[in-house]
Amino acid sequence: MSLSTVSYRIDRDNLIVDVSEEWDRFAIANGGSCTSHSIIGHSLFDFISGDPTRMFVRVLLDYCRHMRQPVSRPYRCDSPDLKRFMEMKITCLGDDLLLTHRLLRTEPISPPVNFPLGDEVVGQGLNRCSICNRIFTFGHWLDVDLARRRGLVEPSVDRVEYVVCPVCQASQK
Ligand SMILES: [Zn+2]
Repeated sequence: MSLSTVSYRIDRDNLIVDVSEEWDRFAIANGGSCTSHSIIGHSLFDFISGDPTRMFVRVLLDYCRHMRQPVSRPYRCDSPDLKRFMEMKITCLGDDLLLTHRLLRTEPISPPVNFPLGDEVVGQGLNRCSICNRIFTFGHWLDVDLARRRGLVEPSVDRVEYVVCPVCQASQK
């Protein structure tokens, strides 16, 4: 394991019961506001923005629990100037589930685009897919740097609504 892999365990009520040692190192490297002390005992869903994304994750958790099989899905967790290609893997540990998030690779976002995160998020803004991080603009789902180069998005977006795009919805099946 390295800083590019973090994992945590949730119980049958989706409460976070344990996090990997890498978690705190990763949290501190990224500003330190979300260390293990502040997340253990909370619901996983407290940390997921937007009902569509919560539903997406819930389906994967339910699938893993009912089928007793691991599930993995690629997703993106971009920063303003970096595309971070991630993988989430869910495995059964008795009645608990272990969720492991692994950084596969990165690419620059050029030019960079800033988005509000977490509880800064307010609805009625630009739709952004929580899973692939593409944005919906002028009838198309586009990577942010492509949209920026085409002049379809500003360098800083103040209002965003996190949803799941049709392609990512279809990947659930
Ligand atoms: Zn998507």
